[in-house]
Amino acid sequence: MTAIELINIHLGYPNGNQVFAGAELTVAKGEILGVLGASGAGKSTLLRLIAGLQHPHAGTVKIAGEIADDEGRYHMPPHRRDCTMVFQDAQLFPHRSVAGNVAYGLEAARVPAAQRRRRVAEVLEMVDIAELADRAITELSGGQAQRVALARCLVIRPSVILFDEPLSALDRGLRQRLAVDIRELLKRTGTSAIYVTHDPAEATTVADRIAVVEHGQIQDLGPVPELDVSK
Ligand code: ADP
Ligand code: ADP
Repeated sequence: MTAIELINIHLGYPNGNQVFAGAELTVAKGEILGVLGASGAGKSTLLRLIAGLQHPHAGTVKIAGEIADDEGRYHMPPHRRDCTMVFQDAQLFPHRSVAGNVAYGLEAARVPAAQRRRRVAEVLEMVDIAELADRAITELSGGQAQRVALARCLVIRPSVILFDEPLSALDRGLRQRLAVDIRELLKRTGTSAIYVTHDPAEATTVADRIAVVEHGQIQDLGPVPELDVSK
């Protein structure tokens, strides 16, 4: 079963920037794909394309086997794609507590209070910040803030998580530890993911397989155990 499939994607900006020209990609259900590429290659555009925040001019996007974009005509709206994004800046609501931030998506989905509380507690436990539930966002470290961002995303149990350089603002040691935890959480929950980073070591820690965005294409570098990206 495929989580995501891109077929012959063409995408350019009105100013003449051609980002994708015949790009292809397949991500299996439960698979974590690490995506590398030079700055400006199109990595963020790729994630926005899958999230439905941007649309190809030609080609097909499929999510869980269902057509989400088709030849510039049909567009499935973002909220139907069952994909959520995690960014470099955690983008938390500063006026709510940690639990309040995590509860947000459940409130929006009108999950009843008792169940909400249970699911928030469960996911905070999972990302290892149960003791921070009532803490103010302004009192968190960078690493803690990213754990909250991850919890906020996991609590709604999306099929796919799209990571855009989530750890790039953190120092190296912390980045490595969090990368290991993120992989473990994705595997435990069976969540598919695309993980964009400029750090090859981080990509190999998190991902099952690596791809590179370059020259308008998405080039598959193969499964991680067979890779040595340091070369
Ligand atoms: P990456 O994430 O790999 O750094 P992006 O996806 O952000 O790359 O950008 C890909 C290319 O598209 C770059 O050349 C960038 O300048 C261009 N680009 C991105 N957003 C826009 C936009 N809104 N208008 C025009 N060009 C854009
Ligand atoms: P805020 O002050 O950030 O608005 P609230 O206290 O109103 O936060 O709680 C928001 C939601 O977060 C509640 O609906 C509840 O489900 C959940 N919540 C709050 N505190 C906890 C906690 N300690 N453990 C689990 N869930 C909690």
